[in-house]
Amino acid sequence: MAQSAAFALAENLAAAGLAVDGCYQCRKCSNGCPLVFAMDLPPDRVIRLALLGREDELLACRTIWVCSSCETCTTRCPNGIDIAGVMDWLKEQAVARGAAVPEPEVRDFHCAFLGAVKLMGGRLSEPLVLALYALKGGRWLAKLRRSAAAGELATALELLKRRRLPLSPPRRLAGAGEVAGILRRW
Ligand code: SF4
Ligand code: SF4
Repeated sequence: MAQSAAFALAENLAAAGLAVDGCYQCRKCSNGCPLVFAMDLPPDRVIRLALLGREDELLACRTIWVCSSCETCTTRCPNGIDIAGVMDWLKEQAVARGAAVPEPEVRDFHCAFLGAVKLMGGRLSEPLVLALYALKGGRWLAKLRRSAAAGELATALELLKRRRLPLSPPRRLAGAGEVAGILRRW
């Protein structure tokens, strides 16, 4: 039973172009990771648990939400394992399955960011990201109730004044159709 679960996870990763079976636990990935201090599982452990098929532990860990996708680990791996890609894949699995995650604010920002890119056909609209994030989980309403939104509004106004928060929608991307195809799978 445990063995088939291991195969299933490793096979799903391999089907996504993220084979992990070459890992020999040298830990070069973890030794180079700039955020390992904030993780509950170092990157080499994530790969180990993936090989063991322990998907539930991986979907519930803090590490995948702390990871900044800097790709240092992927660059350092002597076996060509795309550890950063595995982290991203696990994030998408956690979102798709509605898994309880230890960093809900990071997950919500992740979803708001990708949602905004999707709505804008491949480009990023910062005000839209902020709006989607604020609306997630009633965050904005809760802040209004606690009168905690005033500071954020003041920051937004300051950013607008300094032209750091463009309100006009971004120009349409030439390959918007292609991007939409990629994002439809997300
Ligand atoms: S660097 Fe590559 S081979 Fe080494 S532990 Fe990390 S994933 Fe495994
Ligand atoms: S991609 Fe993530 S796990 Fe890899 S080195 Fe960067 S922060 Fe660490």
